[in-house]
Amino acid sequence: MEDVIYVVGHRRPDTDSIASAIAYAHLQNTLGDNRLRPARAGEPNAETKYLLDRFSLPVPELLASATGRRLILVDHNELAQALPDIEHATILEVWEHHRIGDLRIPHPIVFHCEPVGATATLIAEQYFLNDLVPPPAIAAVLLAAILSDTLVFASPTCSMKDRRVARRLEAIAGVEAAALGRDLMAARGNVAGRSVTDLVEADFKEFDFAGHRVGIAQIEIPDAGAIVARRLEFLEELRRVRNAKGLLQVILLVTDIGRQGSHVWFAGDRREIAEQALGRPLVDEGTYLEGCMSRKKQVVPAFEQAFASATGEAKR
Ligand code: MN
Ligand code: MN
Repeated sequence: MEDVIYVVGHRRPDTDSIASAIAYAHLQNTLGDNRLRPARAGEPNAETKYLLDRFSLPVPELLASATGRRLILVDHNELAQALPDIEHATILEVWEHHRIGDLRIPHPIVFHCEPVGATATLIAEQYFLNDLVPPPAIAAVLLAAILSDTLVFASPTCSMKDRRVARRLEAIAGVEAAALGRDLMAARGNVAGRSVTDLVEADFKEFDFAGHRVGIAQIEIPDAGAIVARRLEFLEELRRVRNAKGLLQVILLVTDIGRQGSHVWFAGDRREIAEQALGRPLVDEGTYLEGCMSRKKQVVPAFEQAFASATGEAKR
């Protein structure tokens, strides 16, 4: 059916990208638009697989390319994070909570972006604004997406709206947020047994900062000890990934949820720009940032600013 409109999140999908796609398609189907169908831009991670399995929801269809597709984007709006060939798709809507990216859309669309902790918060709110109640399983995955993106409300990205929506979803789903949060963090798995390649790739995002391509990966875990012990192995992997992808810099944030801070490890050129962004020198290619939990809110804007100043575009 060429009428189909796919709802799709970013590459290397996380729980927010998958849950928001499932829920938004379901919401519109419920409102009478049967053209929408959930999709994904890659393999779901261990946490998301656990979640879909637990609440008996099907894994959305995989799209390998955007060419010729009619799409609604959730949880991203940057070229480097979208499906391949995104410039050959028709984008109808965007539901988002990141910085406004570089997708140029040549016609008027619904573009809904708010600084909340998860796209799922905005999708859940759409049910409520339409006087609808999501089915318990969908309420559960929306709640899970909020917990996942906000690290169970601990991230500075978490807003009052996230907490309020999460409380309503908790009641509808019949699951307790704190318990679900613990289950999700446990489902992320024992990192000790996973390869550095796998751990760096799992949540790797590419950005364009003033014309420079930079990769920023993040690993969020209750206790970073096991990762920190493998620092040299990770630094080597960052250099490898940087060369393989032809990026100027690759940064890895190892976010210690318990300690509420992130180890930052670096590979690449123009390290002075990274040091400017981080506000401190890199010692042995790394540093620790107390209170730093969010790539989107705390790290990306600092790099954007540092690259803009370094390339003389600060006043643009
Ligand atoms: Mn996401
Ligand atoms: Mn998100």
